[in-house]
Amino acid sequence: MSTKEYFDHGELMAVLTTQPLDRTLDYKAPEGGCFLGAFVEVPLGPRKVLGVVWGPGQGGFDISKARSVIRVLEVAPMREEMRVFLGRVADYTLTPMPAMLRLATRAPGLGDPPSMRKIYRLGSGEPDRMTDARTRVLEVLRDYGGLAFTLKELAEQAGVTSSVVKGLVKQGAVREEDSPRDLPYPHLDPDLPGKELTEDQAAAVAKLQAGQRTGDYGTTLLKGVTGSGKTEVYLEAVAEAVRMGRQALVLLPEIALTAEFLTRVEARFGARPAEWHSGATMTERRRVWRMVGQGDAQLVVGARSALFLPFRDLGLVVVDEEHDTSYKQEDGVHYSARDMAVLRAAICGARVVLASATPSLESWANAEAGKYERLDLTSRFGAAVLPEMKPIDMRAEQMQPGTWISPSLRQAVRQRIERGEQSLLFINRRGYAPVTLCRACGEQIACDHCDARMVEHRFLKRLMCHQCGETKPMPDACPSCGVEGKLAPVGPGIERLAEEAEATFPEAKIAMLSSDLFSSARALKAKIEEIAEGDADIVIGTQLVAKGHNFPKLTLVGVIDADLSLHGADLRAAERTFQLMRQVAGRAGRADKPGQALLQTFQPEHPVIRAILSGDEEGFWKAEAAGRQAAGVPPYGRMAGIVLSGPEVGPVFDIGNAMARNDGPLRDIGAQVFGPAPAPIARIRGRHRVRLLVKAPKGAPIQDAIARWIAPLRLKGDIRLTVDIDPQNFY
Ligand code: ADP
Ligand code: ZN
Repeated sequence: MSTKEYFDHGELMAVLTTQPLDRTLDYKAPEGGCFLGAFVEVPLGPRKVLGVVWGPGQGGFDISKARSVIRVLEVAPMREEMRVFLGRVADYTLTPMPAMLRLATRAPGLGDPPSMRKIYRLGSGEPDRMTDARTRVLEVLRDYGGLAFTLKELAEQAGVTSSVVKGLVKQGAVREEDSPRDLPYPHLDPDLPGKELTEDQAAAVAKLQAGQRTGDYGTTLLKGVTGSGKTEVYLEAVAEAVRMGRQALVLLPEIALTAEFLTRVEARFGARPAEWHSGATMTERRRVWRMVGQGDAQLVVGARSALFLPFRDLGLVVVDEEHDTSYKQEDGVHYSARDMAVLRAAICGARVVLASATPSLESWANAEAGKYERLDLTSRFGAAVLPEMKPIDMRAEQMQPGTWISPSLRQAVRQRIERGEQSLLFINRRGYAPVTLCRACGEQIACDHCDARMVEHRFLKRLMCHQCGETKPMPDACPSCGVEGKLAPVGPGIERLAEEAEATFPEAKIAMLSSDLFSSARALKAKIEEIAEGDADIVIGTQLVAKGHNFPKLTLVGVIDADLSLHGADLRAAERTFQLMRQVAGRAGRADKPGQALLQTFQPEHPVIRAILSGDEEGFWKAEAAGRQAAGVPPYGRMAGIVLSGPEVGPVFDIGNAMARNDGPLRDIGAQVFGPAPAPIARIRGRHRVRLLVKAPKGAPIQDAIARWIAPLRLKGDIRLTVDIDPQNFY
């Protein structure tokens, strides 16, 4: 990268645009000149596009023909560290730079002049009469000194309706002003009294903070059982970052579920952080993007793409539930936010905290190898103890056909109902039944566009494809043989399990938690709060419930099919099952009552099930690590998935075969290529998919080899190729 920092009017500069071109374009600096890294608007054909000044012009053409930058946007220029980061992620993931720039500018209208809106400050008038609500509003304004709030922020902070604020405006006690929309975020106070930490927690905090004070890069794996206080611990690391005047980022996997978390941040720091997620409005996103860039957001809580925000001085990244698979983006730029967080921190001298009760094997191995520091919180906070885990051997249970709750589990649930405690029945399948079978001809109803079965959703009264989202009404007659009244559901989904529970426990109040049953994150959150308050005897849930909620009255978890995810062909099947089962079991017994987890299984002697039951985590990881080492697969070897897709299967396979034949660049680095083979899901949305897998020794330059391998390809027509480095899902 060049060291030239400034371009005078008319000087030629290279501009990286968001357009899919394989190079930068040259433009003349506008009147007033331009800094390296400036966000600019440039003409491209008849259009105006967004770009960043990337370096001196490349030249090589008639300079008098060069066009000028239209305008320089009024936002902080992209810092060198960000340019380096985007370049490294591009190299790592084999993504073209324009796509990286799009990822880093996901805030529409970020250069537009700020629009205006109303803000509220303390006024000089006296209200005619005081009410509790009015007092609270004025207290909030006084507490924050001269700070201005939006109507929503003020009302929320004071716990009043907006009409209370409006009333105070009429009286002159609160002043209403017009202000640019993009306000700085309220300051976080790191020195408000936090919770009193346990010895374990305090020791972990001391280590983290000592690391932070070095000002250098470092990654810590913070491992602790659910409820051990990992969140309390990393919030103290956030406090230290804020004290040091640096910014912090907390990444969370299931963004719909941050409400509880935001409340905790507010309780600790006296103000809410900036939020970055797909549910945020365009103006909110723009505000976050701009304020992060100018250092007026101290803490961002967000989904994985928050990693590409233009932090001015990022000092800490927390990746909570670091094992969660949603950190891997699997469309557009295929990147792992966890791994890229470590990369970004290394570039800018920040600390990373990877928090989990069940870390990924990758992180566990990095800690074993001494690349990451490891801190353990071994006990649950307070009286809460880990639940007792037991198998229910399904081979010995008397099951009625079409039922899934075994007599042993039934008895355990009944006990809880009698004691006024809650039970959770866990099944990781949405819908009513995974298969709809014609009893006349044996046909299973499939999606017209995908190689997938349609799943019956009784709640929606439709069949749905979980691959492409297509739905259709439940037919009366079999689409294949035309016989009526012979279609039957096979296997259980959450809705069918709820039906069975209702029939089995008619006296119980039953609540279902599945992402597709709620129209909004807010509705889901409301339901979760109701359940936490005890408004259900039995909770029936999918994977959603495995994550971070507190249900204090919950003392029993029944896992309907502990074997389900063991059958996957995926190399991470065992690891995933282990993590999921332990997370789910961790839901029980969070308060003062001990919990129990019962796992229905047909293979209680399976090593993974045994490891889950015995709680021998280190043993499980050691065995899993040894297996992967022997097979030379991640994290002890490198992999990449190549998917070719197109409307016709023939030409797609032809290219795949040609690639397999011309594998010289891969052989050069000792890598092997497997395939082409139909991808595990061989057709999605009408496109046929063919997959090749590349396996290379650890440390081999796999990206470079793949780049040389695919460079000569000329993809015709509608054929697409995607490369997934370190694939997480093999579909
Ligand atoms: P984790 O993130 O490991 O699941 P949390 O930080 O959410 O654990 O802690 C679990 C519960 O225990 C939370 O309600 C938290 O507020 C409480 N808790 C943890 N540590 C303390 C402490 N030192 N003092 C008071 N409450 C605590
Ligand atoms: Zn489909």
